[in-house]
Amino acid sequence: MELGRFAPSPSGRMHLGNVFTALLAWLSARQAGGEILLRIEDLDPARSKGEYIEALESDFRWLGLNWDRQAENQSLRGPKYDEIIEELRKNDLIYPCYCTRDQLHAASAPHASDGRVIYAGTCRNLNAAQRAARTKTPCLRIRVPNREITFRDGLQGEYAMNLAGEWGDFIIRRADGVAAYQLAVVADDGSAGVTQVVRGRDLLSSTPAQLWLYELLGLTAPRFYHVPMLLAQDGRRLSKRDKDLDLGYLREHWRPEKIIGLLAFSCGLIDRWEEVSPRELEKNFSWSRVNPRDITLDPEALMHAN
Ligand code: GLU
Repeated sequence: MELGRFAPSPSGRMHLGNVFTALLAWLSARQAGGEILLRIEDLDPARSKGEYIEALESDFRWLGLNWDRQAENQSLRGPKYDEIIEELRKNDLIYPCYCTRDQLHAASAPHASDGRVIYAGTCRNLNAAQRAARTKTPCLRIRVPNREITFRDGLQGEYAMNLAGEWGDFIIRRADGVAAYQLAVVADDGSAGVTQVVRGRDLLSSTPAQLWLYELLGLTAPRFYHVPMLLAQDGRRLSKRDKDLDLGYLREHWRPEKIIGLLAFSCGLIDRWEEVSPRELEKNFSWSRVNPRDITLDPEALMHAN
């Protein structure tokens, strides 16, 4: 059976982009007769708030985006992630890195085409004496292979990356002891048996690293669908910072079907902006009808579209 998931981070009230991703995840799983898992990605203790967890669960219900199972919150899974890290350590796949932010971002640091700093491998081959001499609490990095990792995204098509050349050894546990997103998401989706991951296109470039972790951990990788970003006219992404259009505002002024209709219309699932429920969209849903390109909205105008 197909298993999709909602994996929200409770770092703010949801905005239209979060709902768009959840709507497509819901439609994709439901249309295939599958189920939805809700997993709260509250890994980052500094940014996650209980009040946002309550709000997003209530917002999903109000929108008609129901789920069938709920996973343990990521903040409770530390021991599980540590176990996995221990396994990787035994296989000599991870090592402590003591580099400071400034060292990583030094002018001479190599950059990938998207501007990301490529880790130069500075701490890769330190010996025990060199490690013992460091005082900074290290993060943990994983050694990446020097080969192309290729996959076919269900919406964006072929995608490939050589992790060694384009990313470098990446962090799997932060210096504060919290597991990194890349590790947690693979451990959790993999162990839950998620078969389809629907998420924002901003995470497309993380997918090769995650596929490689799936391989290392002996877990079956899901299919991926990276959905368009919702942008404001100046090209920036609509985000939780656009407070005015968050679910707090929208729930006061709009009916849920109006929000769903706007999102369905924006990506090409319906021909005009009309009120519609997720259930009504389910019958005719197909990924081939979803436009993969980013969507520009006018938050100002939408505020007044009551
Ligand atoms: N928790 C992430 C977010 O809210 C999603 C991660 C994922 O879908 O893999 O943006």
